Amino acid sequence: MTGMEILKRLFRDSIKPYSGKLLISLFFMVIVALATGATAWLLDPAIEKIFLDKDNKMLVYIPIAIIFTLFIKSIATYIQVSLLTEVGQEIIADTQIKMFTKIIHADLNWLNKIHSAKIISNFLYDVNLLQGSVSNGIANGAKDVLTLFCLLGVMFYQDWKLASVAIIAFPLVGILTKRLGQRMKKASTESQVETGTLASLLSENLDGTRIVKAYQQEKSEISKVSKSVIRRMKKITKGAKTKGAASPFAEFLAGFGIAGALYYAGIRGIEGDLPLNEFVSFLGAMMLAFQPLRRLASLNTTLQEGFAAAVRVFDLLDQESFINEKFDADKLKFINGDIELCNVSLSYDNNKKALKNLSIKIPSGKSTALVGPSGSGKTSILNLIPRFYDPNSGSIRIDDQDIKNLTIQSLRSVIALVSQEPILFDLSIKENIAYGKKEATDEEIVNAAKAAAAHGFINEMPHGYETLIGEKGFSLSGGQKQRISIARAFLKNAPILLLDEATSNLDTESEKLVQDALESLMKDRTTLVIAHRLSTVIKSDQIIVLDNGKVSEVGNHEKLINQNGTYKRLYEREF
Ligand code: ADP
Ligand code: MG
Repeated sequence: MTGMEILKRLFRDSIKPYSGKLLISLFFMVIVALATGATAWLLDPAIEKIFLDKDNKMLVYIPIAIIFTLFIKSIATYIQVSLLTEVGQEIIADTQIKMFTKIIHADLNWLNKIHSAKIISNFLYDVNLLQGSVSNGIANGAKDVLTLFCLLGVMFYQDWKLASVAIIAFPLVGILTKRLGQRMKKASTESQVETGTLASLLSENLDGTRIVKAYQQEKSEISKVSKSVIRRMKKITKGAKTKGAASPFAEFLAGFGIAGALYYAGIRGIEGDLPLNEFVSFLGAMMLAFQPLRRLASLNTTLQEGFAAAVRVFDLLDQESFINEKFDADKLKFINGDIELCNVSLSYDNNKKALKNLSIKIPSGKSTALVGPSGSGKTSILNLIPRFYDPNSGSIRIDDQDIKNLTIQSLRSVIALVSQEPILFDLSIKENIAYGKKEATDEEIVNAAKAAAAHGFINEMPHGYETLIGEKGFSLSGGQKQRISIARAFLKNAPILLLDEATSNLDTESEKLVQDALESLMKDRTTLVIAHRLSTVIKSDQIIVLDNGKVSEVGNHEKLINQNGTYKRLYEREF
């Protein structure tokens, strides 16, 4: 994207909604600029009337006029800065809400490929840089341009020849800022990427503290993080130096203009060709022009920094979603919950197929177990049913309706999922259970917990159902967390139940409790369960054995044992 395209998009997406406030702000910027110009201009009558004409009245009026002008200028500046700050923060908030909406609806395929910490850094750090470029860059740039314009106006009004000499170095300043801008773009992109990397490293270390300690990798982690911190520091320093270079060098270049103007003014002064009052006013305007000029010289670096951030924010916002509803999608007409996969193929990365032209039937009201070596495609099948992924070919039907033609809401509302890793939020136990049904009554929540064999231990917690889970639920055991997530599924009371190795990381005692809870949850529902231990699937109505993305055997336990095939081998290996 070119700078112009980025600017256009920023105007369209972020700035336009605030055009009202920005126009008011612009109005006050014009006042600030005019007031600055007026201060310089006032030097002309000041010299003429006070010093040359010795006018006593003017001796009072002009200082009052100067105070008045500066008063107006300070009020206008304050209003203008306040408005811009508001707009800037509102743009941040808007952009973040848009980003979060995008993230929460994004396809799993994309989310799984990108480290969550990078998204967080994008969300917090890049958006701030973007805002900085909009309010410090675009908006303050406008103020500086206006001010410079007014001051140049005074300079040209007083003496156009002198003014022309004074701006002789402007093209050089232009070239300088362009160069620095390019350098800034690179440094800024690099520092943003490094910020993402650092965030990932931190998040991994916080998640894996126990492993880091157990394997005594503190030193190597410190060195890894230090390297990233230092790389980031260097990039940021490079950016800051680039930005810092703009003003002094622009000032230096502008010095040629000033020197030239003074020289030329001196010659004309000696010849008596330049009235002192005009010259002083000219000089005042030229000096006042320095500050906006210096800031404008670094404007491009500020913009480039923000543009680099904008590109990263746009990347996220433009992330295409492949799992969409058809615009004329129907609601699922739920009958029994018969599920059928017809000739389904799925590949995650366009090369290796995780599922190969696979067809299975999952009968309603019964339990179907998926077994097979890891990597055989069990989770992939589970992922297809709520449309976490879409198959590359083939179809999935529920009660004879292709799920691609259904609204995602109606599809997911009939499905409850208990995942391998119980996911609990930083909320109370009660709110965690009611996560999928916010309007549930206390009685419903307690009943769900009882059915999930969780009521007992919840009651023993310090605040019972109101106990806060805390980050990731460290205070609960795996089995307890799993039972809370089963209670959540109970409360949702959906007719289709998906269980992904829900008992895989439990000790035998909690496994027994969780297993009992699951069995009562499975009753009369269409259940698809991935079981890591064959002992848990013996009772299933149907067992599907997968091998390398294909179905190798189907039947119940007895039938498969008698078949003397893969299942029997897996079974014998386990017992
Ligand atoms: P299982 O659950 O039986 O262990 P999966 O369905 O998870 O198997 O995986 C099937 C195949 O797809 C494996 O080869 C795995 O490496 C691959 N796979 C699974 N998930 C992804 C993913 N998000 N991206 C890329 N490949 C994946
Ligand atoms: Mg799996």
